[in-house]
Amino acid sequence: MSKPAPLFNRLALIGVGLIGSSIARAARVQNAVGSIVATARSAQTRRRVAELGIADQVVETNAAAVEGADLVIVCIPVGACGPVAAEIGPHLAPGAIVSDVGSVKSAIVHDMAPHLPKTVHFVPAHPVAGTEYSGPDAGFAELFVNRWCILTPPEGTNQQAVDKLAAFWRLLGSNVEIMAPDHHHLVLAVTSHLPHLIAYTIVGTADELEAVTRSEVLKFSAGGFRDFTRIAASDPTMWRDVFLANKDAVLEMLGRFNEDVSVLTNAIRNGDGQALFEHFVRTRAIRKGIVALGQDSPAPDFGRMHPDLPHPPLARPYAAEGE
Ligand code: NAP
Repeated sequence: MSKPAPLFNRLALIGVGLIGSSIARAARVQNAVGSIVATARSAQTRRRVAELGIADQVVETNAAAVEGADLVIVCIPVGACGPVAAEIGPHLAPGAIVSDVGSVKSAIVHDMAPHLPKTVHFVPAHPVAGTEYSGPDAGFAELFVNRWCILTPPEGTNQQAVDKLAAFWRLLGSNVEIMAPDHHHLVLAVTSHLPHLIAYTIVGTADELEAVTRSEVLKFSAGGFRDFTRIAASDPTMWRDVFLANKDAVLEMLGRFNEDVSVLTNAIRNGDGQALFEHFVRTRAIRKGIVALGQDSPAPDFGRMHPDLPHPPLARPYAAEGE
């Protein structure tokens, strides 16, 4: 059966790391675009992208990449988006849709919009999907399947352009939601930014302990620590930029978090088992909700099976509760 015609003729990807290379791979598989032209900051990454064959053309400059493209997606750290917008602005084709994948949105709109000509449609986007790996080898075509992509079009954005970009992300497997940038900040501060800050903190704390050696921390990590280390291995440049760009929302959520830690601290100090139990029952329900929505595997071990296990682990961690 023949596939429908591509949604866009020419996709330009600026930055081909985990996200950019996953877009390239998924767009190919889904026949979402006629051709893909890509560029990256370093010659080394450009060479690797060419070797991997995930773009039809690899060019040296951002300006050359966007020439004639009807969809441009900027897939680089948030802090670099403003200067790149200034660089590509004069070379964009009239009518092109310009988007990004940054994990924060207001700063992106603030930094990029002033450099883009009125003849293009600017539709910022955030695919809420990722891993702790970086670079063009880390991407894969299924990254966005059943994940959400949040579009934050500034007021007055052409609706057809928003719909077309939404159709692109749906073709790549995503669910799409439209959100105001300010609300995106709060939602992501609690679902992504704060968890990363906590993971970065706890892994750092464990590393600095004097009474427990580093080898003990590594050896006994399956007690819970290990699951924080995956998040704490995320790209340092990306996350530095996220915290700087979403400062207010992160500080607000951090304030609430600190208050809640104090409540649990008091419960432990006062031996208030009931308070602890009730809190943990509530948080367990959140996990069940995430699994029910298909946002994670119900398998134990967070879906990461040990390669040496003879059988896959039981798929129903809550089975003991008769559910
Ligand atoms: P990545 O794998 O580290 O790739 C980053 C890409 O950006 C590389 O091609 C890199 O080129 C290029 N780049 C880095 N600094 C640059 C600069 N100053 N100017 C121009 N290009 C530059 O990063 P990623 O994980 O794909 O993240 C890219 C964007 O996606 C970020 O804005 C991030 O907030 C967002 N995002 C990430 C995730 C995630 O889980 N990783 C999830 C959702 C959204 P070189 O290789 O040549 O240096």
